[in-house]
Amino acid sequence: MSDFTMSLPQDVKFIIDRLEACSHSANVVGGAVRDSLLCRPLGDFDITTDATPERIKEVFSDLKTVDTGIKHGTVTVVIGHIPYEITTYRIDGDYKDNRHPESVTFTRSLAEDLKRRDFTVNAMAYNPREGLTDLFFGVEDARAGLIRAVGDARVRFDEDALRILRGLRFASVLGFSIEESTARAIREKAELLKGVSGERIYQELKKLLMGVSASEILLGFSDVLTVALDGVRVEKYPTDEKIRNASFATRLALVFLLNAQSPAEAADRAFDRLKADNLTRYATKNALIAYDNVDFRSNSTLLHSLRRFGYDAVFGALSIGLVTGRFSYLDQNKLAFVMNSDPVYEVSHLDISGRDLSALGCQGKEIGNMLDSLLNAVIDGECRNERDALICLAMRLLK
Ligand code: ATP
Ligand code: MG
Repeated sequence: MSDFTMSLPQDVKFIIDRLEACSHSANVVGGAVRDSLLCRPLGDFDITTDATPERIKEVFSDLKTVDTGIKHGTVTVVIGHIPYEITTYRIDGDYKDNRHPESVTFTRSLAEDLKRRDFTVNAMAYNPREGLTDLFFGVEDARAGLIRAVGDARVRFDEDALRILRGLRFASVLGFSIEESTARAIREKAELLKGVSGERIYQELKKLLMGVSASEILLGFSDVLTVALDGVRVEKYPTDEKIRNASFATRLALVFLLNAQSPAEAADRAFDRLKADNLTRYATKNALIAYDNVDFRSNSTLLHSLRRFGYDAVFGALSIGLVTGRFSYLDQNKLAFVMNSDPVYEVSHLDISGRDLSALGCQGKEIGNMLDSLLNAVIDGECRNERDALICLAMRLLK
């Protein structure tokens, strides 16, 4: 693969050139090299060098630098408001708690730095002058579509259990298979995930669920993921083809809906463990509750559903139902109605206000009750949502 040329942004070239001009070696490493080889959209560029953090700061003293993780060797250099992380080649010391190295040692050897990386496709480095450094046959694995641990997979997962989930995540996102001995180690070491923080698991799970092979991985490694999902075992899941357009919340909801006895409660428990953000938490839970209760058979049942559960939950339930086929009776016109029209399903949508009702002699609680009755009448098609008609109806009801 010596003919591989990676196209680097101007700033990245500048950083590498500057370090080299100061007698250091520097490389792009990790995700950017992998994605470039695979012709995938590139994310951040991580740069590694034999310069120590202090030296990096010296070399870029004319630019803004941030001590991002100085102890771990990372300095951020800011060029035109864009941050670039530069990390010193390092060797991780012994790992404590199956997650964090006790200490890190800086090294002048790129090979040592690549050795500590998780998977062969993530352990390649690129430098414009020297081309690709691929000590663990990452190119071969990338070509074959394989996630393979660098070194002995079991040892690598003992060192850092998060790698178990990262492996599944990369397989899902890249649509790769997991090499046999790596897959065996993933299953063997799954229990170690219990010691990984919920937040980190959740971050990986999010990416895993959105991957092109999410379904394949969820089903193929349900014994491993059950540790991450607080006991939920994914035995049923729609095919990847079926969920192609589904959002994260829908994909997550399907995990619980299809695999837990009480989906909303199971979701709640898992969300506690994962420290999920409130937005996802409520969206998923409310969609699951709505899913069991919404009724799209007529305009008025649809509007009553919207009134009871709110737009987001009904829309969420609808999205889940489009995958499971629950609302197969629903025609596209109704779907368009939910999404595009300005449906009246809340008191605030009425063309009449509490003040109007006060003027008619309503007081206190009566006002709220009257607005509710008027809303029911509008939803049920008994009254148009027009001020005059609503006042007329209110007067009749008051009599
Ligand atoms: P992406 O950013 O697209 O999710 P990435 O490969 O850049 O993918 P990062 O989490 O940004 O992943 O990490 C950058 C690189 O650092 C990885 O490619 C890998 O070489 C290394 N790395 C990250 N986390 C670990 C880990 N837990 N164990 C070993 N190496 C790791
Ligand atoms: Mg990255």
